[in-house]
Amino acid sequence: MARSSEERTGTEKKRKDGTGTAAKAAATAAAGLAAGAAAAAGLAAVSDLAGRGANQDPKAGVKSGDPAGGGDGREQADLEAAARGGAASADRPVEERKTDRLTVGIPRAMLYYRYHVLWETFFHELGVDTVVSAPTSRETFLTGAAHANDETCLSEKIFLGHVAELVGKCDFILTPRICNLGRRREYCVRFQAMPDLTRNSFPETELKLLTYSVDEIHGAREKDAFLGMGKELGFPRKAVKRAYDRARKADEDAWAKRVRAEEKKYSQEGIRILIAGHSYVYQDPYFGGMVTDELRKLDVIPVRADVTDRKKALDLSVQVSPTCKWEVSREILGSIAEHRKKVDGIILLSAFPCGPDAMVNELLVRKLQGIPVLNLVLDGQTGAAGIETRLESFIDIIRLQQGSL
Ligand code: SF4
Repeated sequence: MARSSEERTGTEKKRKDGTGTAAKAAATAAAGLAAGAAAAAGLAAVSDLAGRGANQDPKAGVKSGDPAGGGDGREQADLEAAARGGAASADRPVEERKTDRLTVGIPRAMLYYRYHVLWETFFHELGVDTVVSAPTSRETFLTGAAHANDETCLSEKIFLGHVAELVGKCDFILTPRICNLGRRREYCVRFQAMPDLTRNSFPETELKLLTYSVDEIHGAREKDAFLGMGKELGFPRKAVKRAYDRARKADEDAWAKRVRAEEKKYSQEGIRILIAGHSYVYQDPYFGGMVTDELRKLDVIPVRADVTDRKKALDLSVQVSPTCKWEVSREILGSIAEHRKKVDGIILLSAFPCGPDAMVNELLVRKLQGIPVLNLVLDGQTGAAGIETRLESFIDIIRLQQGSL
């Protein structure tokens, strides 16, 4: 676990880092892998650990087992945990998850909602414990906003709040760098710079980041990145490869199941509204939760555009924009192209100030003709009352058009 600043100064601090990591990796390996294999792998070689002065209260922003999971997030966690035959580990309170084994902290924000099955299965297979920060609350947001600069988007402020919560609760905080999955398959620049942005947002805090980099355009594939991360944690290549292969399969199986469940909503009776937004905006219980709660109160069926057959969506996206280069935006564009005739309206849901959404949603507002579209931008000042009013008006217009009001 993180140590106090008094314990960690100069080379002594580095030495303690290496020793502590080695001891924990050895304990982890002994518990989860063939005995002795990890010891042979050079356990002190965990890199990208940003050791800095520990002036921050390690408990800042931590909530003890906050049960507010957000309906959809909880539902997905259960579904995906069930798919891989385990409990919904993300729902266990932070304090229950301390062990002598290596513990990796996972911020419940941003890429968590896309990759948590992959990450949790990978670490589980290696015998590494994971601890997931509690669902977003007002306190999470305020803590993150205090660490962020003014230009930071709402999603990243929330992410930083989750990082703050994990300080002192784990050995490393997982902060990947994902640049692209190939040409015209790019991630937002915030994901390309995530480890640096995170480190620089906590200049006075001891942060130990565990990262991996995916940049397929320049030959850095996801699998190689995981192999490198596992090696840095001190595990043998064979065990890491097996863990990755199982994690990738679990992730794909869970996603296929999730997509099948979402597709069924297109044939449900009632007003169906397609929500086009990033998973971490929609699924965040504090911000996105406001929208889904209100839609359900209005007796509307929200359907997620981002939960779709991703490959098919990428192919279809060129019908809407042949030049869009962002992976997730293309998935959403393709999903809209496929599903727009099966829904009664579309809500473009984004977090302020989002560069990709500002361009893509403007394009969509102009291109989507013949179907009601609401452009809803959430920010830190967003109140439930304002959201309720806009959603009520939107649904009233749809009901009026359909002659049911
Ligand atoms: S896509 Fe938008 S909301 Fe997501 S990280 Fe980038 S700027 Fe923030």
